[in-house]
Amino acid sequence: MTQRTLFVSDLHLPNGPSPLRDGLIRLLDGPARATHAVYLLGDIFEYWIGDDVGLRDHAPVIDALRALNSAGVAIYAMHGNRDFLYGRAFERASGVQLLTDPTVVDVDGVPTLLSHGDLWCTDDHAYQRWRRFSRNRFAQWVFLKLPQSRRLRIAGGLRGQSADAKQTKSVEIMDVNPLAVEAAFRHYGVSRIIHGHTHRPADHRLSVDGREVERIVLADWHADLMEYLVAEHGHLRRMHV
Ligand code: MN
Repeated sequence: MTQRTLFVSDLHLPNGPSPLRDGLIRLLDGPARATHAVYLLGDIFEYWIGDDVGLRDHAPVIDALRALNSAGVAIYAMHGNRDFLYGRAFERASGVQLLTDPTVVDVDGVPTLLSHGDLWCTDDHAYQRWRRFSRNRFAQWVFLKLPQSRRLRIAGGLRGQSADAKQTKSVEIMDVNPLAVEAAFRHYGVSRIIHGHTHRPADHRLSVDGREVERIVLADWHADLMEYLVAEHGHLRRMHV
């Protein structure tokens, strides 16, 4: 039996109603129903400062995820660098299962390494330092204890810093490091990687130790271009909401 799998990342949904939210709900209520699994590969939300706030502010999205899961579609998610704080309450409310980053999954017979992608941006030393700190359990525990208003202010400040940093960093620094990607192909022994994060959608074909492999980069979402990837019959297709 052939299986249809859907991949999407980097929607960066703002808190509250938006064309992007409408697009995601159309996708979850429509084309996603005809798949057997949906993978959300990070940065679905622009920020997530805790399940208490996120579940409330993104309630229509959570409801659509739960409805899709109740209809028999498995939904998996990986944390992005914006929404790395969703936890158990999110999983329970949405029916989504969290995956560690990276994870190998069998996609219609093809072992495929899935990741958000930021862990391979190894040239960006400042970002990797922040990544290590922000994924620290204790740092997260402390942050989540803060009042909502405080968490919101901190998240707002961090997004401002990130926007400033993007202006000054070169495009190479913010892309994945080719050696880090090669090492991942080698370590996991896969012939395909699918990731997001860089906002540079492309199908890269490369050779690692004489093996032909492919690195598929998912597109970030814009109100006028909301792209997702479908795997079926051994082929990948980019589709639009
Ligand atoms: Mn990202």
